Amino acid sequence: MNYYSLNHKSPKVSFQEAVVRGIAPDKGLYFPEKINPLPEDFFKNIEDLSNNEIAFALIRQFVGDEIPENKLKEIIADTLSFDFPVVEVEEDVYALELYHGPTMAFKDVGARFMARCLSYFNKNNSHEVTVLVATSGDTGGAVASGFLGVKGVNVVILYPGGKVSEVQEKQLTTLGQNIRALEVNGTFDDCQAMVKNAFLDKEITDNIQLTSANSINIARWLPQMFYFAFTYKHLKKEGKPLVFSTPSGNFGNICAGMMAQQLGLPVSHFIASTNINRVVPDYMETGNYKPVPSYQTISNAMDVGDPSNFIRIQEIYYNDFQNLKKHLSSYSFTDEETRTAMKYLYEIRNYIADPHGAVGYLGLKKYRKEHSETLGVFLETAHPVKFLDVVEPVIEQKIDFPPQIESVVHKTKKSTIITTYDELRSFLLG
Ligand SMILES: *Cc1c(COP(=O)(O)O)cnc(C)c1O
Repeated sequence: MNYYSLNHKSPKVSFQEAVVRGIAPDKGLYFPEKINPLPEDFFKNIEDLSNNEIAFALIRQFVGDEIPENKLKEIIADTLSFDFPVVEVEEDVYALELYHGPTMAFKDVGARFMARCLSYFNKNNSHEVTVLVATSGDTGGAVASGFLGVKGVNVVILYPGGKVSEVQEKQLTTLGQNIRALEVNGTFDDCQAMVKNAFLDKEITDNIQLTSANSINIARWLPQMFYFAFTYKHLKKEGKPLVFSTPSGNFGNICAGMMAQQLGLPVSHFIASTNINRVVPDYMETGNYKPVPSYQTISNAMDVGDPSNFIRIQEIYYNDFQNLKKHLSSYSFTDEETRTAMKYLYEIRNYIADPHGAVGYLGLKKYRKEHSETLGVFLETAHPVKFLDVVEPVIEQKIDFPPQIESVVHKTKKSTIITTYDELRSFLLG
């Protein structure tokens, strides 16, 4: 499969090259040249298939013959070594819990898949790669864990100092080995801008093979299709139109769901739920896409002022706004509303949601008010323990640390503080 740049000023590349580059030389995101729907039978008989078989069928065409079939199956099995429970929260409303992996966030899936692809491409140890990644919270931990000890891959993570939760910070600053953390005096948008600059800096790219592990990287983005299909398999017997509400920041996760729909997955509607960083909800209302600086909220992994993957969603719908509107709704919620939802879910439904999942729940409820015939799923994108300072005071209840978290919180943080782009450059070159 070949990939083109959404800026249309760089040559088409193979899967491998798109993964290794991360972003095209013209700064565009890569997008697959073709999307071939799977046979109808595949979805009709999906309950006969294992999760690994479903994942293989979904990703096969996007990898092409660049990874041998057996190896790709191995990578998938390794990536999906944990559960994806679909939990009924109230009638016709389900939580898809994506937090049972090593760092307890959905990003584990993409990060683990991408790390294993890079490791395969690097099998002859011919080229060292540096993964440079900006995180608003969970990407850093998932990438650090997914890439830890992977030969020939150095990882440099930028995060906004003081703007990620303590657990998140520990997950990305305590592993050591090939993982280094840079604590930036600034916002997530500043981190992301620095990373973008580094990719365009000839002095750096002449010396180092840089790649990204944000959802702009196709190997991080596409495997996120898998669990939308697992959920369909689980809920198909209910026989109702399925809708997904995805708490969205850079819109990689929801965009992967929409790709799965392009492959034929029967999804009736998508809801992109956001906090007050509402560039996309505003766009869906006005048709005007206006990036703005991000605001800090309690669902900080979604504090994004210019979602990088939204351009891919527009590409899926051939930039046809009216058509997109038929498939996507987008709503924004305040921290106050989010806290109220968390409290309600805990007290009335006996379910502990993290702030991101709660935003997803709110979006789903809003949509279902006028579409009660649907079966709704909201994505629970992180374990509530990752946002202790927010969750505990709201539910007035202590949350137990799962083993994955317990093992990390007592370790010592190790980071380098930077403020300017020049400091990042010296760090990379030095
Ligand atoms: C990254 C993240 C999101 C946003 O996902 P996108 O793919 O960037 O839209 C939502 N919730 C949590 C917990 C996250 O870590």
